[in-house]
Amino acid sequence: MASSLWPQMTNATTTDFEPVIGLEVHCQLKTRSKMFCACKVRFGAPANSLTCPVCLGLPGALPMVNHLAVEYGIRIGLALNCQIAHRVKFDRKNYFYPDLPKGYQVSQYDEPLCFDGELQLPINDATGNPKVCRITRAHLEEDAGKSIHMGHSTLVDLNRAGTPLVEIVGGPDLRSPEEAYVYLTTLKRNLSYLGISDLSMEKGSLRCDANISIRPRGQEKFGVRSEVKNLNSFRAVRAALEFEIKRHTQVLESGGKLTQETRLWDEEKLETRSMRSKEEATDYRFFPEPDLATFDVPREWVEKVRATLPEMPEKRLLRFLHDFKLNQPDAEFLVGEKALADWYEALLKLYDEPRKVAAWVVGEVNRELQERHVGIDEFKVKATQLVELIKLLDTGKLNNITAKEVFKAMAETGEPALAVAKRLGRLIEQDEGEVDAAIAEVIAEFKDKAVADFLKGETKVLGFLVGQAMRKLKGKANPKDIGARFEARLSEHRS
Ligand code: ADP
Ligand code: MG
Ligand code: ZN
Repeated sequence: MASSLWPQMTNATTTDFEPVIGLEVHCQLKTRSKMFCACKVRFGAPANSLTCPVCLGLPGALPMVNHLAVEYGIRIGLALNCQIAHRVKFDRKNYFYPDLPKGYQVSQYDEPLCFDGELQLPINDATGNPKVCRITRAHLEEDAGKSIHMGHSTLVDLNRAGTPLVEIVGGPDLRSPEEAYVYLTTLKRNLSYLGISDLSMEKGSLRCDANISIRPRGQEKFGVRSEVKNLNSFRAVRAALEFEIKRHTQVLESGGKLTQETRLWDEEKLETRSMRSKEEATDYRFFPEPDLATFDVPREWVEKVRATLPEMPEKRLLRFLHDFKLNQPDAEFLVGEKALADWYEALLKLYDEPRKVAAWVVGEVNRELQERHVGIDEFKVKATQLVELIKLLDTGKLNNITAKEVFKAMAETGEPALAVAKRLGRLIEQDEGEVDAAIAEVIAEFKDKAVADFLKGETKVLGFLVGQAMRKLKGKANPKDIGARFEARLSEHRS
């Protein structure tokens, strides 16, 4: 990828220490049923209504693997340029927690489904090369339930227990909170192309733990890290990392010693606090899950999944820049969400005016989507109708202002462009006589003022005259056209 395309990240070099950051991202898979049982995966159902002996961890209940979850895992791995393991093996990760009814989580330990991948970021590193973050591994596991603290008691909802998760472990390759933020937005964008998860930080279908250490600049060996949990937005990740960098720096500069620990981000106080010293792998007493046999992942399966991958955003961005000659911000905005990029391309099939169409999508369409809190799939204006509208504008039947007005109404009601333009009385059906009469009236009215000024060479009053004529015509004219007519008419006066 052309490195000149991306901005240089200005990593703060205000101290003698360099941050080292690696992120672990959990992504809930949007399968119909859970990882090891037939219970439904659904957010917001009555507590404990989506449970069975398997996900409740009752003795004797036997799990079965959801193969679609494995396939989604492969999809993620391929999209992140990973190797895919030749077999699926699950392990038990033992720990005690009220929302973990079995006393262990089924995860993958020494044989992750996906490994050795990388994610290219749309930024340059300190040496001016495109920034790449390694993806160490991406493995399958089951989610735990939820503890709800009420007064002095803790209640447990196990609807979430057993929901399929993929944990994506990024390499310790990020060097600033800003880079971590870009990593997360890029990762999320890429995952959104796969249609395998809701990816909502709010609903917890996307979660991130941030690992951070600092080291003296120039030193190769990593420093002692802390892992921050309870981060509920990408902004929180960035803020928590900034906080931790300051904290680590202060400890080290005052001659203190850091310990490896897990810390919680406090969204109110904007600070982290220690939760526990970090578990070692041995604390989890991993061992192969005895209730699940390993099974093979044939290469034909992997290739079949690969063949269903959509064009990924990095590639699509370059195509949009190259084929459609879009500017970088517009192209990035459009590929930011697969559904929007698809919609844009559907528009182009109907009207091959890439830049004009992009301006509408990035501008007016985006504004309406934001205001209405809807995605493009729920948007009332269909592609064919937006194209009709742009054509009305391009053929002079609407002007820039009335076209936007008509569009607003279309977004409200979903009516066709022409119908709205007629209903609002905005369609310009040029009546030459009416237009000429309006211009003549304005000239007569402002003969001693604006017109006289114009004739003296003050061309900027033209806008005023056009405005007056537009008013008389109730906006049903093209201002450019009116301007040209004024100039033609007044040039007669001049001579
Ligand atoms: P664990 O399984 O104990 O959480 P891993 O070695 O799998 O430990 O690392 C987890 C995450 O921590 C990875 O994203 C990795 O990039 C990051 N990481 C590891 N060591 C460091 C370090 N010294 N500083 C910052 N991040 C680190
Ligand atoms: Mg970890
Ligand atoms: Zn169940």
